[in-house]
Amino acid sequence: QYKAEIVAVGTELLLGQIANTNAQWISQQLALYGINVFNHVVVGDNLKRVTDTFKQAHERSDIIIVTGGLGPTEDDLTREAFQAFSNLSMTEHEASMKKIETWFQKTGWTMTPNNRKQARVFETATVLENKQGMAPGMIVQFDERTWIFLPGVPREMKSLFNDEILPYLYKLTGKEQMIRSTILKFLGIGESTLEHELQDLIQKQTNPTIAPLATDDGIIIRLTAKADSSEALERLLAKTKADILDRVGDYFVAEGEKTIEQVIVERLNHKKVSIAAAESLTGGKFIERLVTVPGASAVVQGGIVCYSPDVKMNLLEIPKQLIEEKGTVSEECAILLARNVRDKLNSAIGISFTGVAGPGEMEGKQVGTVHIGLSIKGEEDRVYSFQLQGNRNVIRNRALLKGLELILN
Ligand code: ATP
Ligand code: MG
Repeated sequence: QYKAEIVAVGTELLLGQIANTNAQWISQQLALYGINVFNHVVVGDNLKRVTDTFKQAHERSDIIIVTGGLGPTEDDLTREAFQAFSNLSMTEHEASMKKIETWFQKTGWTMTPNNRKQARVFETATVLENKQGMAPGMIVQFDERTWIFLPGVPREMKSLFNDEILPYLYKLTGKEQMIRSTILKFLGIGESTLEHELQDLIQKQTNPTIAPLATDDGIIIRLTAKADSSEALERLLAKTKADILDRVGDYFVAEGEKTIEQVIVERLNHKKVSIAAAESLTGGKFIERLVTVPGASAVVQGGIVCYSPDVKMNLLEIPKQLIEEKGTVSEECAILLARNVRDKLNSAIGISFTGVAGPGEMEGKQVGTVHIGLSIKGEEDRVYSFQLQGNRNVIRNRALLKGLELILN
């Protein structure tokens, strides 16, 4: 039975400026692997305290995973502390040094001596190339313990952990089973409805396990399978995915890393239709979301952030009379905004967002009242109305998701 410990180095963690999500994430991965984590420790950027922390970790744990403090600056002390404690000698890692020098040559920035620090590794270490950044990771076998050093930046840490650390631990701990998980993303279905539909599947299924989770971006289901070969893993995951989609496939959007907006841009691209938005409530969020996708330019015409009644009237030709009689938060206004933004920006689809995000009611309409207008070439203009819950920005985000969902369908 291996005992694992996670040491996060960084004063910003102690000050509460950032949360220790690295430890959380690593613990989740190790739990999947059946490796027990007994301690999470956070220590500030101080040589003596980091060294002391390493001593304690060494006393009580078999696998110690350290994140942070591998960078070039004065306060990055992880290497120094481990050396002070272990007396292992260090050397400059040639490939890492090359990478750093090349980067500085390419960007034209001046390389200062402390940048060399990032290429320093323990002589006995297995050096792990950091594909997302400069400082390499390291695995050091020392005094019957396994020490693993990873960068603090979560993206770099995760990429190294998945590519290098998991396979290493898999061998080290002699686990016969391999583990793989995937994420299925759903939109337009509530968590309780989804769980209800899948209740018996969730209860009887142990391999893969089925874990639904509500996020700001809809519901995700994480499937985690164990098997002794890659093929068996694929088979198990595919079978359960098919069972799930049999029941709630109507709400399925994407799998794995793929995002909702990627799926939308792909589908619009495939159908060769363009889109424009008139955004009052969402203040530009909708278009911003689509524009994060490479290739969005083929389908996104643009948007108008029509926050004030003036902009609705002047740029989108909403009649003053309509606003006076029905208000800006009305079905009529939503429909006309969608149609006019489609006309003006010359696109196949026009969508509009208007509503009351709060904190107070507006035009006599309750907080959470949202209208989304949809105008599609060759179809009748329509409007969808919602009463959403939450504070101001939760309502804005939920309205955005409703809009994304409407475009998907
Ligand atoms: P760098 O080369 O960027 O300096 P590093 O290995 O020295 O990387 P740190 O300087 O400790 O790492 O942290 C870099 C950034 O990574 C921090 O500003 C913080 O945003 C994030 N980070 C560090 N540790 C954690 C952690 N435990 N959980 C979440 N985020 C973290
Ligand atoms: Mg740093």
